[in-house]
Amino acid sequence: MIIAIDGPAASGKGTLARRLAAHYGLPHLDTGLLYRAVAASLIAADRDLHDVDAAVAAARGLGLTEFDEESLRGRQMGEAASIVAAMPEVRAALIEAQRNFARRPGGAVLDGRDIGTVICPEADAKIFVTASAETRAQRRALELAGRGEKADYAAILAEIVKRDARDSERADAPLKAAPDAVRLDTTKMSVEAAFAESLRVVEARRR
Ligand code: C5P
Repeated sequence: MIIAIDGPAASGKGTLARRLAAHYGLPHLDTGLLYRAVAASLIAADRDLHDVDAAVAAARGLGLTEFDEESLRGRQMGEAASIVAAMPEVRAALIEAQRNFARRPGGAVLDGRDIGTVICPEADAKIFVTASAETRAQRRALELAGRGEKADYAAILAEIVKRDARDSERADAPLKAAPDAVRLDTTKMSVEAAFAESLRVVEARRR
């Protein structure tokens, strides 16, 4: 069974994907980490984030298991990731590894922006997770504060709105719900309620 979870930054898709993977005993891939890792490798090499050749080389050299999540989850890395993620060449270099991960025997849970539309259009269950930008900014501020990072709510909200626009307006694999995805607005939902609802969606699709 392949479960595709898409949605904007801090919508709760990562938490839901991890919970669903644990529930069904499936491997989970957070595909945002791939783009974050490409950006991190450019930054480490002191290359421009718009350098397509360097970004493609970084994407091709990426393994799916070697992430230092702690450093990749930082605040600037999300913004940097959305710059490299807008390059079709970078996306093309990452497609096969994501598809291979999804199509392993038994299936997998993947979360990102284009899982239900581009990476796994054949997924058994697709959920498009949303929440208001304000709620997402509050969640991100809490998460960053928990990691000891400076978290100014207004600045975080502005970053989220800017990243939503960049991810939604790019020409290649923009952030959007697949026609057969079930939309889940978590603005007023607890994590438990959102998880219960996503389980219901997956179970309904399985039947
Ligand atoms: O999900 P996360 O916030 O970690 O993603 C970081 C950035 O990577 C996103 O803003 C988006 O630009 C890009 N991304 C993408 N496609 C995916 C996953 C992430 O373009 N499947």
